[in-house]
Amino acid sequence: MRELEIPDAELADLADEAVALAKAYWSSLGERPAYPSTSGSRTAELFARPWPEAGRGGEVLQDFAAIADHSRPSGGGFFGYVFGSGEPVGALGDLLASVLNQNVTSWRSAPAAVTIERSVVGWLAEAVGCAGFAGTLCGGGSAANTMALAMAREARLPANEHGVRAGGVVYASEQVHMSIPKAAALLGIGRRNLRIIPVDDEFRMRTDALREAIAADRDGGLTPFAVVANAGTVVSGAIDPLDEIAAVASDQDLWFHVDGAFGALAALALPERLSGLALADSLSLDAHKWLYQPLDCGCLLHRHPEAARRAFSHTDDYIRIMNEEPVEAFAFFDETVELSRRFRALKLWFSLQYHGRAAYREAIARDLRHAQLLAEAVRGHPDLELLAPVPLSAVCFRHRGKNNEAILKRVIARGRVYLSNATVRGRFALRACFVNHRATEDDVRAIMSEVLAAADEVNG
Ligand SMILES: *Cc1c(COP(=O)(O)O)cnc(C)c1O
Repeated sequence: MRELEIPDAELADLADEAVALAKAYWSSLGERPAYPSTSGSRTAELFARPWPEAGRGGEVLQDFAAIADHSRPSGGGFFGYVFGSGEPVGALGDLLASVLNQNVTSWRSAPAAVTIERSVVGWLAEAVGCAGFAGTLCGGGSAANTMALAMAREARLPANEHGVRAGGVVYASEQVHMSIPKAAALLGIGRRNLRIIPVDDEFRMRTDALREAIAADRDGGLTPFAVVANAGTVVSGAIDPLDEIAAVASDQDLWFHVDGAFGALAALALPERLSGLALADSLSLDAHKWLYQPLDCGCLLHRHPEAARRAFSHTDDYIRIMNEEPVEAFAFFDETVELSRRFRALKLWFSLQYHGRAAYREAIARDLRHAQLLAEAVRGHPDLELLAPVPLSAVCFRHRGKNNEAILKRVIARGRVYLSNATVRGRFALRACFVNHRATEDDVRAIMSEVLAAADEVNG
């Protein structure tokens, strides 16, 4: 029987082997297909195994090759969804974070990690024009959006003591991400009380329709309490008119949440376009998208630490902090839904300092240029049609004459680039999204040539 505690020399060998695997994987990214050739029965055959009674020792690391071969790689040809490219310095940060095994609940539990997370959150806030906002790192935009609506509800229609009262209404555009209706359901607001506001020709929330909907709800005896704007809709990257929505929110005493999971970090390269972020009560963003960090790394920023405490603080006596010194008394668990939390900030600490701000600004600017390059190529091709404007880095388009679903399947099977799909005004769209620091102009050109080649292979 193996002991759990292993000798230093054996551990050193194991660590060297793991790092060697990481290095070989990173250098193989350029050669790997954009999607692995695999199937459900193949992965079950490889990986649906029992837990053996006797340990296999270091030999288990040899499984990595097959795992990597049946994984979707973050290579230069990946343009699906909104998914960052796994910056390696961040990955090393994640490894070291796990080595340290800090529980980032409170300063007392993790003095360095808590201080680093608060610093890094400050950098992110400042980078998107929201200097001075407080916040926390979390699993992703969905978790951040849910926490934001929990804060909004507790600030305007307190429910934590006696349960949810009927009649609270939240507003968002028809392009809202599914995490918002999900949050409305989880928080007892109810999906029916999420009012869906129509959009203009550029997929931006219509503020006139928002005002009308609020007035109608007030006439009906309901209580509007929050509005959610998009800073980058997930489908086409549309940025709602943040200044106008902020003005409505302020007139109507609504909590103003901005879902910036896709687009908020574009403020590094496009500060003027996203200046309205600073007007938000709360703002979600995803460092595992447009800061290229390895999963997971979401962030909720807000200007209301007291509202966060009202929503999330329920401190039991056994963790009551003895120390009253403000830095040392700080506890994330009073301001977030989680208690045990991993040290997500370490990857950001390493990666953002290693590269510096200019490198990130330039990578985001390059993604924006790549999107324009593809949009121009699509506009210039008689068989292709652009289906939405391209304000950020998502490009939705279609082939005019062929079945686009069949084209997408062929593109993915060909393995040079990976695209995903979207529905734009009821039509099936091919969608390329650029949040990929490895992508080159050649990769962008390959999207065009692959789509056209796939179209040739598709009958009708
Ligand atoms: C990705 C995304 C989300 C959800 O974020 P996760 O990190 O996947 O939970 C929410 N809103 C928008 C606009 C997104 O692009």
